[in-house]
Amino acid sequence: MNLRNITADKLVALYRNGDLTATEVIQGVFEEIEQTDKDVRAFITLMRDRALEDARRVDAKVAAGEALEPLAGVPVAIKDNMAVRDVLTTCGSRILENYIPPYTATAVERLRSAGAIVVGKTNMDEFAMGSSTENSGFFVTRNPNDLTRVPGGSSGGSAASVAGGMALLALGSDTGGSVRTPASFCGVVGIKPTYGRVSRYGLVAFASSLDQIGSFSKTVHESAQVLEVICGFDHYDSTSADTAVDEFVKGLDLPVKQIRIGVPKEYFVEGMDAEVKAKIQSAIRLYESLGCKIEEISLPHTEYAVATYYLIATAEASSNLARYDGVRYGLRQAGNGGLQEMYRQTRMAGFGQEVKRRILLGTYALSAGYYDAYYLKALKVRTLILQDFQKAFERVDVILTPTAPTVAFKIGEKTEDPLAMYLSDIFTITCNLAGLPGISVPCGRNSESLPVGLQLIANHFQEGLLLRVAHQFEKAGGFLL
Ligand code: GLN
Repeated sequence: MNLRNITADKLVALYRNGDLTATEVIQGVFEEIEQTDKDVRAFITLMRDRALEDARRVDAKVAAGEALEPLAGVPVAIKDNMAVRDVLTTCGSRILENYIPPYTATAVERLRSAGAIVVGKTNMDEFAMGSSTENSGFFVTRNPNDLTRVPGGSSGGSAASVAGGMALLALGSDTGGSVRTPASFCGVVGIKPTYGRVSRYGLVAFASSLDQIGSFSKTVHESAQVLEVICGFDHYDSTSADTAVDEFVKGLDLPVKQIRIGVPKEYFVEGMDAEVKAKIQSAIRLYESLGCKIEEISLPHTEYAVATYYLIATAEASSNLARYDGVRYGLRQAGNGGLQEMYRQTRMAGFGQEVKRRILLGTYALSAGYYDAYYLKALKVRTLILQDFQKAFERVDVILTPTAPTVAFKIGEKTEDPLAMYLSDIFTITCNLAGLPGISVPCGRNSESLPVGLQLIANHFQEGLLLRVAHQFEKAGGFLL
C-alpha cells in the first residue's frame, strides 16, 4: 500500500468506520517499503514485528468499540538520532552502529501515546552534520522524485520516507535546516518549531543551543496534528519551554487577510536559481491575492549567518561528541597501547570525515587564544541576527523566503566541496540561530519537475500563525504553483 494518496486524518477515519484494518495497512506499508526502499534507501532499521503488534492493538480497540487516539494506526518514521527503547539508534554513525538505547525519546513517546505506529528508523547524515544525507556512515538515501538526486539533509531518510509513500508522518531534527531543506528537496511539508518547544530528551545532541525536533508530512493539517502531540513542556529537558501549546488544528482556517508578510531583500541573492526565484515570486503574488500585505524588509546581518553557525555548531559539537570514547557507547577498538590509544583508534574508526572536520574546527574555535576571536565573536553576531528578526517582527507577522537557493542537487555534486554544501543552508540557519519557528512548504516544481520549497518564519512560539499561513497557501493551490 503506497501512502502517497492518503493523509493521517483520512486513514484514522477509515479505521473508525471499519473500512480498513490497521493490520492490513501496516502490512501493506512494509510491502511498499520492500519495493520502494530498494532504490530510495530511506530506512536504516525496520520495526516490522513491533509495528504489527501495535496495529493489532488498534484493531482490537475498534472491535471493542473503544475511542481511537488522534493518530491511531498512523505509520510514522523516526530519524535515527532519536532513541527508541530496545531499537538500534545509530545517528547515522559507525561509532553507534551497535547502540541500543534503554529508553525512548519524549517526542517519540508522545507520538506513540497518540496512537502512531513507528515503522522504522531513517537514514541521516552522520550526527546530523550535512545537507544531503550523503554523509551517512552507512549508505546514501536517494530522492524519490529523482533517484539521481539527493533528498536533502540531514533528515533525508525521514523526508524521503514521506515523499516516497512509505510513511505518512516522520520526525526529523533541525539544527541548521535539517528538516526544512529535505522537505523542500523532496516536496513535502517540514516544520521546525521554536527552540524549546519540543523536548530534546532522547535526541542525540549535535549543537544543543540550536537542535530542535520537527516533523514531515504531505499536508499542513497533518503537521498541525503532529505538533499538537509533540510540543509542550518536559521536565527531562532543562531547555524545554513551559509555554501553553495552542490548538493548532482549530486555528488553521482563521483568516489571513491583512496579515503582514515581510520579504527580506538579503534572501534574494545573486546566483540564486532563476526558477526557484520565479516560484517564490508566484507565491508572493498568491499571498497578495489572499489579502495579505507584502512588505520588503531587511535582515542586515544575514551575510554573517553561515560563518556564525559553523563556529557555534562545531564548537558545541566538539564538546557533545567527546562522550564517544569507546567506553560508554557503541563501537570500541582494541587500542593495544592502552586507554589513550583505545580512544584514538575508536574515534578514528567510528567517525566519518565530516564529523572529524567539525570536531577539529570546533575544538580550534574553543581553544585558549582563539575563543574570544572566534567563538565569543560568533555569539555576539548571533545576538545581532536575533535583533534583526526582532526589529522585523515589529513591522510584519511572518517572513517569507525560499527554503534553499536551489532544488535538489545531484548525488556527488557537492561532496568534494564542503563550503558549497554549507551554503545550501544559507536561508535556513538564521532561524536556528534566533530560535525561531520555520516551515517549508512545497511551492510548485521547476521545469525538470523537481520540487521547490517556500519557507515561512514567525516569531517565537507563533507556530499556530505559521501553520495557518501555510495551510491557506496550500488551500489556495500554492503547493501546485
Ligand atoms: N546542514 C547543516 C549542517 O550541516 C544543518 C544540519 C542540521 O540541521 N542538522 O550543520
